[in-house]
Amino acid sequence: MKKRGMKKRDHFINGNWVQPGKDRYIDSIDPAQGVSWTRIAQGSDEDVDLAVSAAQRAFVDGPWPRMSREQRANCLISLADVLEHRWPELVESEIRDNGKRITEVNAQFAGLHTWYRYFAEQLLKLEPEPLDNQIPGIRNTAHFIPYGVVGVITPWNSPLMILVWKIAPALAAGNTVVIKPSEHASSSTLEFARLSQDSTLPQGVLNVITGYGHEAGESLVRHPLIRKVTFTGSENGGRKVATAAASGVIPTTLELGGKSPQIVFGDADIDNALNGIISGIFLSNGQTCVAGSRLIVEDSVYPQVVSKIVERANRLKAGDPLKLETEIAPLANQAHLQKVLEMIDEAKVQGATCVCGGQQQYPEECPNGFYVQPTVFTGVTTDMNLWHEEVFGPVLAITRFSHEEEAVRLANDSNYGLAAGIWSNDVDRAERLAEQIHAGTVYINHYRSVDPGSPIGGFKLSGYGRELGPNAVKDFMQVKSVWVGCAPCTDPFPVV
Ligand code: NAD
Repeated sequence: MKKRGMKKRDHFINGNWVQPGKDRYIDSIDPAQGVSWTRIAQGSDEDVDLAVSAAQRAFVDGPWPRMSREQRANCLISLADVLEHRWPELVESEIRDNGKRITEVNAQFAGLHTWYRYFAEQLLKLEPEPLDNQIPGIRNTAHFIPYGVVGVITPWNSPLMILVWKIAPALAAGNTVVIKPSEHASSSTLEFARLSQDSTLPQGVLNVITGYGHEAGESLVRHPLIRKVTFTGSENGGRKVATAAASGVIPTTLELGGKSPQIVFGDADIDNALNGIISGIFLSNGQTCVAGSRLIVEDSVYPQVVSKIVERANRLKAGDPLKLETEIAPLANQAHLQKVLEMIDEAKVQGATCVCGGQQQYPEECPNGFYVQPTVFTGVTTDMNLWHEEVFGPVLAITRFSHEEEAVRLANDSNYGLAAGIWSNDVDRAERLAEQIHAGTVYINHYRSVDPGSPIGGFKLSGYGRELGPNAVKDFMQVKSVWVGCAPCTDPFPVV
């Protein structure tokens, strides 16, 4: 059914806006208002093929992988320059798609350009590496070669932030990319593609296909010209992507879910810890991969910590995400709201004590939005689903411990292993504990930072491979071992 008056957004292929071959569009719902605000193209196999073929042409025939490192770095810097000055053009589409608060979106977007600059610098440092070998008269060197077309699949919670983690190093490496953003939040990625046209990135290097994961996403992963896939999303989506990629022998990086623990020791600076706990679970409404959703508190400070969290959570004011004063925004979509409410109900049935929130809420200015109260459960035990399952919402599960080994055991009692927090004034002990925690990132007296220089990724079901960090560009390259003989070869069959 065609809707009048609403902006339709097409795929971005080879620098052009391309209508979906089957002329199908998906409503994108504004979660604060509960109504459709724009429509995005529903990509099919043929649309994906157009985009991947354009990216392949840009890789095989275009200048991109053949540019000098300086030239390619300059293109990334020109993209950074555009973003530095024009990021405000991206803000509204992000908020209308996923309901993130304007304060958080502004903070993320104002810094996006620095990430592109960081990977441009990392590219300039990339040199072939001499390799030690035991063979006389041989010079052996590792060269780093781009893969080709990289499939980039992103979730709805922070589309452009997660995108830069992937495409800045992938492009720096000399690959071309086809991006498939979430069907719930594609607009900011399309707006970003529009801005990229004002940079010096060559045509076809960056392409965006929108649509459903099981359709456009799967088609992208299965396309025979895709050489690597980088995916961020749910465990379920990750399994499907990994399975499809395995059938084509395609390497993948999977950044999946989490159920990250935060441990608070009795000797911690409690007010400092509270800031980390509150931001860990209530910023972005808990819709972040590293949400600190399990809180493990030492007996001696347990009552004090719980009552302070409840007091602060009760004060958080829900409202329109486009307003600066709003503290709690809607969840990103209706199905997700229902899932979060069901998980809250299930925790109550299973015997956890809801000490704060626990209901849907209806702010005056957004009565039809997908809002849930900041929610805190105490008495959560390890046999409850709330202990193990990712809610991806503003729901904190609290339990207590009496000795260090118990805290570590509780923290590690999860199939996930993305992040963890430790709060203690005994930093030696905290660092010792960090060694024992099964997680890709451990924060001590701090929580939630990300930086292009620091690798991020998961243990266990939180995924495999790492993004960011000193090897990020190389992670998007294949290693070629080049052997140079510097002495005459010996005759294998000498005449005796
Ligand atoms: P999702 O798995 O539903 O979707 C993520 C992306 O994958 C979307 O673009 C979707 O269309 C696509 N997709 C889904 N199925 C696919 C398939 N079979 N083949 C190809 N593509 C497919 O996840 P979501 O709901 O958008 O995001 C929330 C999840 O993402 C949470 O579990 C969260 O923890 C995780 N996440 C992880 C990180 C991290 O860095 N580890 C960061 C943010 C979000």
